Amino acid sequence: MQTEHKTPASLETLVTLCKRRGFIFQSSEIYNGLNGFWDFGPLGTELKNNLRDAWWQDMVRNPPLGPDGEMLDIVGLDSAIIQNPKVWAASGHLGGFNDPMADCRESKSRYRADHLMVYVPESGEGTAFAFLEGEPAVAEKRIKKNAKSDPSAYKVVAFTDLDPALIPSVWGPDASEPGTLTEPRQFNLMFKTFIGALAGEGEENTAYLRPETAQGIFINYKNVVDTMRVKLPFGIAQVGKSFRNEVTPRNFIFRSREFEQMELEWFCHPDDATKWYNFWVEARLQWWASLGVDMRNLRRRDHDEDELAHYSTACADVEYQYGFTAPGFGELEGIAHRGDFDLTQHQEASGTKMEYLVQETNEKVIPHVIEPSSGLTRGVLVLLNEAYTEEFVPKGNTEGGVQLAKPGAQVPEGYEKRVVLKFAPRLAPIKVAIFPLLKNREELVGKAKDLYAELRKTWPCFYDQTGAIGRRYRRQDEIGTPFCVTVDFDSLEDNTVTVRDRDSMKQERIPASELKAWLHSKGI
Ligand code: ATP
Repeated sequence: MQTEHKTPASLETLVTLCKRRGFIFQSSEIYNGLNGFWDFGPLGTELKNNLRDAWWQDMVRNPPLGPDGEMLDIVGLDSAIIQNPKVWAASGHLGGFNDPMADCRESKSRYRADHLMVYVPESGEGTAFAFLEGEPAVAEKRIKKNAKSDPSAYKVVAFTDLDPALIPSVWGPDASEPGTLTEPRQFNLMFKTFIGALAGEGEENTAYLRPETAQGIFINYKNVVDTMRVKLPFGIAQVGKSFRNEVTPRNFIFRSREFEQMELEWFCHPDDATKWYNFWVEARLQWWASLGVDMRNLRRRDHDEDELAHYSTACADVEYQYGFTAPGFGELEGIAHRGDFDLTQHQEASGTKMEYLVQETNEKVIPHVIEPSSGLTRGVLVLLNEAYTEEFVPKGNTEGGVQLAKPGAQVPEGYEKRVVLKFAPRLAPIKVAIFPLLKNREELVGKAKDLYAELRKTWPCFYDQTGAIGRRYRRQDEIGTPFCVTVDFDSLEDNTVTVRDRDSMKQERIPASELKAWLHSKGI
């Protein structure tokens, strides 16, 4: 049955909920924060770890079957964040990992120049108005107020495509007059650091925080081939932190300066690379759907030829409809056909042979690589977006009659609003909450605590004895706990408990002795 398509939550709603319920905090908050950095709180850490573990389970330990139904071999790796700087010279990051930026001399704002758009008068005369992609409102207001004109008399041009001679007549997004934006300049995104206690800050001591996990895999390709008896095709996977000195970190954890990636490098025979590319694009889209992400919020976007790196023959993104991109989509994962570029570069720069000997034919090849590369932290944002649901629930009735609430809609007479995070049970930060019906009855509390002590051996659980049961349910709904177990007076008589389901809100009585097996059967 096709369910109603939810309107995505606004970023503000998610940021507020994440702070209030301990998912994600602004980093260094007590010192006014640090732009582009976020701290994961207790529940956010569990959620992120669950997504990471799901990826590891489904990509490394038990990957999907290949295009011909065969089992795939993928092994894991955890390489150092700081590597020999020659790695980044060979990979092209030192020379080319740049973004164009433009500064506003007045407001001191710094913009990704390729994220700036400009309303340019069709007539070619007068002031042009810059705005951040997807946020034209400020510029449109200015066109009406300052230029006494209408946006329809303007065409939209990318700032990076603008004739530099026109830049002095452009009004920056938060400037009080035109002409304050600088021409775009290239800016390398790698964070620099210096190695050694006595080392000066000279070139010879400079190292970089990795901007992607992938290169750690390429430089260990030979080690893995030599030690793990892997046979082509095979994969090496890694999850870990990456750092990019983004010009304009924004949209919460969508674009931050410190983030985590989940990357697979799939090494295959050059003749089979296209087959594997097509396989991985489809497999990755399906994986996100398997986590409960609505297919209507996912799409494949194939890169145009002019977007491809010179060595790449194909690249596709898995895109998601975030609240801040809707009705448009934004990147979640990229799947790139990288050819033999990386291995060849490292072979040339290091002098280490990267050839693979195909034993059956005695042929030596440099494998081609297909790279599904996704953001773990960006994935958490997708899970939060996807799970966030507001519903109108009939008062006093715990079953049926529930309506999906449209953003901003009034709560109908006789209903109350509930906020619920509908995470797949596998991903939910807390799996089970345990309540005694009353906190002042020792028998109930004792039995509930015994149950809590037993269940927490297997799952992340939460014990709560404060407030009415309905309010305790709502608190768990808001953090996405799939099951709440209540110990009541009947439990003392017949050793059964009530299990309440987060999504249907239905309650079921289950013998306490069967509870663990029952919960296991629900996929938590
Ligand atoms: P973008 O175009 O959004 O800057 P990209 O194409 O440079 O991203 P890749 O280098 O392909 O990204 O990185 C792979 C994945 O890593 C992305 O799909 C995204 O999920 C994640 N990622 C990249 N940069 C960031 C960032 N600054 N913050 C959070 N996640 C990121």
